[in-house]
Amino acid sequence: MKYSLTYILPLALVFFTACNSDPKKEESNQHSVLVFPQGEKITNTNFTGTAYLQMLVDADSLNSVSVGNVTFEPGARTKWHSHPAGQILLVTDGVGYYQEKGQSKRTLRKGDTVKCPPNVPHWHGASVDIAFVQVAITGREKGETVWLEEVTDEEYNR
Ligand code: MN
Repeated sequence: MKYSLTYILPLALVFFTACNSDPKKEESNQHSVLVFPQGEKITNTNFTGTAYLQMLVDADSLNSVSVGNVTFEPGARTKWHSHPAGQILLVTDGVGYYQEKGQSKRTLRKGDTVKCPPNVPHWHGASVDIAFVQVAITGREKGETVWLEEVTDEEYNR
C-alpha cells in the first residue's frame, strides 16, 4: 500500500503526456480553430452548393487586390470563372479541389497555395466529404471576375 503513490503518480504523468500528444486530438483541435470569420452565406448564382464569404480587405488606390475568406461545405464549388488580373488562393483548412480548363483536378489541403493565371478559366471548391476554407486574393485593377458555366457533377467527380 505504501508504494501506491510512487507507482500511480508516474503512471498518471505518462498517461497525461500521452493524451496530450495524441496526433488525432491535435488535428481535431486545429480543425476547430477558425483563422478568419466564416462570414455570410453566399446567395448569388456563381456557386453550386453552400458556401460562405467574409470579405477581409477591399481593393483601393494603394492595394489593387481584394482579400476574402471563403468556406465551402462538402460538395460546394464555384462555377467556372476567370480573373482578368489573376488570383492567389491560400488554403487554411479542410480538403478541396482546384482545376484549370484542360488540366486535371488538383486536391488542396491546409497550407497549399495556388496561383491562378489571368484569364484562365478554372473552378475551386470543397471535396466530396470534407469542407474547404480558402483565402482568395484577387487582382482588381483589370476588371471584375468573369463567371462562366456551372461545374457539372461529372466534371466535379472526374
Ligand atoms: Mn478563382
